[in-house]
Formats: sequence, structure tokens, C-alpha cells
Amino acid sequence: MIRNKEGSVQETIQRLHAQGGRMTVQRRKILDVLAAMQGHPTAEELYEAVRQQMPGLHLSTVYRTLRWLEQEGKVSARRFEEDARQERFDVSHPKEHHHFQCTQCKKVIEFDSPFIDPVKNHFANQFSAQVASISLMLYGICSDCSQNHII
Ligand SMILES: [Zn+2]
Ligand SMILES: [Zn+2]
Repeated sequence: MIRNKEGSVQETIQRLHAQGGRMTVQRRKILDVLAAMQGHPTAEELYEAVRQQMPGLHLSTVYRTLRWLEQEGKVSARRFEEDARQERFDVSHPKEHHHFQCTQCKKVIEFDSPFIDPVKNHFANQFSAQVASISLMLYGICSDCSQNHII
């Protein structure tokens, strides 16, 4: 995850309180765990992670909470090409970042790189265009999967 997620979770909670939104203990835990997870977990992966701390939790509660947080603009859902039927979730953060998806285990890794700006500039010069944003999507085999492959 890229910077400042903790900060944005704090802001979300404060804003929801200010608006009288109901940030229950359960919802807060789900948001906290999502913020602490790497990449973009599926609802099921998030459920597995939260359940370790809240054994009575239901998957349907995780789904409902994610929808609610999404409506609040605090969680974003997106589908990646390698498993397009599967929604993956992340705490909304305005900072531009990029993604790698493992074609084997479907895991998503977020990254940023100092080499992105040169790509933007190169394109802008070549096509005399103004680039407003950039989102790179890389595909391949993650290190876990490539290690398993060798064995
Ligand atoms: Zn993998
Ligand atoms: Zn992301």
C-alpha cells in the first residue's frame, strides 16, 4: 500500500462521525484490516483476514460494509483483467499508483516508480498531448509463484 493509508482511515472515521454515519466496531475493524493489507484483496480474502480477529463475522457483513464504504467514497472496487469477474477492494487513496497482477495466483501488487514520469513526458512530447494521469498495469508471475514453479 502506498503511504498515508492510516491517515485516510482516520479522516474517514472522523468524517463519518461528523455526518452521523454509523461506523460500528465491526465496520471499523474491516476498514482497518483492509487498509493494512497489501494490494487489492477480494472480499473473501478480507473476510479471512478479519475473521481471525472477529470469529463471529459473516462474509455477508463484509460485503455489506464494503458497499457502504464504497458509497462513502472511502473504498474503491475494481476488476483486474486476469480475473475480471472478481471485484477487488482497496482503501481509496488519491495518490497515483500502479499495479502488477500475478497471472497465476491473481495477487495484485501496488507500486510507484520514478520511471513513470519520463514515460508521461516522452508521450506528451511525442504526441504534443497533455497527460493528466497514468495508470500502468503489469502482468507476470509473482516471486512466490515463480519459486513454487522451480520446486
Ligand atoms: Zn503469484
Ligand atoms: Zn491500487
